[in-house]
Amino acid sequence: MHKLLFGTAGIPASTRKPSTESGIAQVRALGLDCMELEFVHTVTISKEKAPLIKRVAQDNDVVLTCHGPYYINLNALEKQKREASKQRMISASRRAWECGAWSIAFHLGFYLGKDKATVYGTIKQELNEVTKVLHDEGVGITLRAETTGKPTQFGDLDELLHIAQETSVMPCIDFAHLHARTNGKVNTYDEFTDVLTKVEVKLGKDGLRNMHIHLAGIAYSIKGERNHLNLKDSDMNYESISKAWNDFGIAGTVICESPNSEEDALLLKKTYTG
Ligand SMILES: [Zn+2]
Repeated sequence: MHKLLFGTAGIPASTRKPSTESGIAQVRALGLDCMELEFVHTVTISKEKAPLIKRVAQDNDVVLTCHGPYYINLNALEKQKREASKQRMISASRRAWECGAWSIAFHLGFYLGKDKATVYGTIKQELNEVTKVLHDEGVGITLRAETTGKPTQFGDLDELLHIAQETSVMPCIDFAHLHARTNGKVNTYDEFTDVLTKVEVKLGKDGLRNMHIHLAGIAYSIKGERNHLNLKDSDMNYESISKAWNDFGIAGTVICESPNSEEDALLLKKTYTG
């Protein structure tokens, strides 16, 4: 990517007669540039409809991303559950690719009380199986492992940068989750630049020029994420994040997951472009 794009998680609330197609057109009408397809509960777009979504996105010059299903645990104890998780990842990735999406984010699993190194090994092995199937089929979408909002969930920044070095799965950096997971840290300019410096050290300039980012206001406790909030109702220091993004010259997509997604996406775009 050559610049940073801003958009909504799902169809903008202001879309009249909501559908994926009209949502994409509304993203463009609002002056935003990207939209995330929400496959979080189920894959919501049929195989037959996917080419139309791809064309509408191209016609409107809107980049599509996707959020994969929540019901995934690549570290589940039962083999059957791990297999079902992989199948959900594969199906969602295929369909998102058919819709022309460039990136798809997943929460990969839970530690379930096991030590982090063991969990890392298990998840990496399962992920490699998923990426092999998709690669063999020619599905070219970038898979992303998202930084998660609770300390019980696999996916701190270091784990995901390590995964990205060892597999083809890139990170989706959810700054609200990093903030919530650490019970209020990762909220100053220096902490944000530390995150971006780590990305650059581990993944190079390419890592900074191909970012899939999530941001929202967020409520949290010692146990991590509670719920998303609008940015102005939260303590999320979005002005400093925006400055860090500018100073590092990053590119990619910023998907706003606030309850008022389009308003906060526009606020972020305005803050970023100045
Ligand atoms: Zn997520």
